[in-house]
Amino acid sequence: MFSKILIANRGEIALRIIRACREMGIRTVAVYSEADRNSLHVRFADEAICIGQPASSKSYLNIPAIISAAEITDVDAIHPGYGFLAENAHFAEICQSCHIAFIGPTPENIRLMGDKMAAKNTVHKIGLPLVPGSDGVVKSKEEALKVAKRIGYPVIIKAAAGGGGKGMRICHNDIKLASSFMTAQSEAEANFGNPDVYIEKYVEKPRHVEFQILADTYGHVVHLGERDCSIQRRHQKLLEESPSCVLDNKTRKRLGELAVKACKSVNYVGAGTMEFLLDKNNNFYFMEMNTRIQVEHPVTEMVTGVDLVREQIKIAAGERLQLKQENIRIEGAAIECRINAEDYENNFMPSPGRIELLNLPGGPHIRVDTHIYQGYEVPPYYDSLLAKVIAYGSDRQEAIKIMRRALNEFNIGPIKSTVPFHMRLLENSSFCKGDVSTHFVQEMLGTVQEPAQNE
Ligand code: ADP
Repeated sequence: MFSKILIANRGEIALRIIRACREMGIRTVAVYSEADRNSLHVRFADEAICIGQPASSKSYLNIPAIISAAEITDVDAIHPGYGFLAENAHFAEICQSCHIAFIGPTPENIRLMGDKMAAKNTVHKIGLPLVPGSDGVVKSKEEALKVAKRIGYPVIIKAAAGGGGKGMRICHNDIKLASSFMTAQSEAEANFGNPDVYIEKYVEKPRHVEFQILADTYGHVVHLGERDCSIQRRHQKLLEESPSCVLDNKTRKRLGELAVKACKSVNYVGAGTMEFLLDKNNNFYFMEMNTRIQVEHPVTEMVTGVDLVREQIKIAAGERLQLKQENIRIEGAAIECRINAEDYENNFMPSPGRIELLNLPGGPHIRVDTHIYQGYEVPPYYDSLLAKVIAYGSDRQEAIKIMRRALNEFNIGPIKSTVPFHMRLLENSSFCKGDVSTHFVQEMLGTVQEPAQNE
């Protein structure tokens, strides 16, 4: 097993990884930007090294600075968390060449699955259904119009190298598609350094359902059930739950087996997530695979009792996965609310600043993953996630009640947070019935949050 791990990340996920390491008797090295000097991950790690200026490009994305920190502190492995360098095949390769284990999939896995079209072609071969769309990159407006004619409107233009809910445009007719196509290409180039775009049928009011996978280096692969992440704003998740209330055991088993088969076919290693859209008629379509730990991994941990970060570390250290598919049981229900520093009544506008007042929830069946404390200054440079509140109940209704109780205890000020949004959501009768889609937030708030995308 490793004796020392560097965590190339910040915020709650850095703390989450430090906690797993502590429990495993592994020493930790935190890296931090100048804006994160007073962050808890810096305090909780055994060692900490400043790697640069606040902007991510100068610190958390600064590969030479991170590798130097790893060499100076003589670590055996680097855990990238999520975001930043987590899905950067080049970084995984550099780690390898420096004889530092990268706690994640192989560079080949990341490269293949990071290319959304290559990933779709690969999984299609083993029988996973795909959303109808272009065969690959769409190069011209004329070609785009042809694809749309074949699959029918509405369609969605997506950046091949996109991520984080960004780089997507919905088009309802030829005029809109023709006028959006080149903008989509230049946006893709500007945001992701790659102008390639592809086209898919836009599934109306779908649910987002994803499967958690674990695979060791000996070809043993299991799935840990699914998460329903339909509650989103601007294609970004706000609340996640496990299990999904629309999946029966038979479908869970069938999709889980397909997801495992897909991972086996590409010799996948580590933790990963296969994302699907579920349409109104309960048809499933593979969307993409994320080759890292997800923000919402705790809901899976709550219902399966498996520590996913610990498993990631063990797999990277070459240990065999002890979990057997037949022993993985989904028990009860878990819900996670993402508490962001955002004003939901103002189009989820970021609300950074100093936290003067803070009371975090606790009590039975509540887990809070967070890096904030009273007096903490939320820096404006990074994503707005402040905390994740996870509630566990014997069933979904129980989990909802426990979450309501917990959010009532969550006091934060004067910065705005998404706590009031979640309280409103948890009182909504359609939500409570489980009658939701990825458009639910927009419908509940009675707003169009993305005029540019919905025209
Ligand atoms: P990212 O990698 O940026 O997260 P995804 O491909 O996972 O992008 O899509 C994010 C979200 O965008 C999905 O959860 C869904 O809400 C929406 N979306 C993506 N593709 C489609 C589609 N073909 N039809 C309808 N909604 C879609």
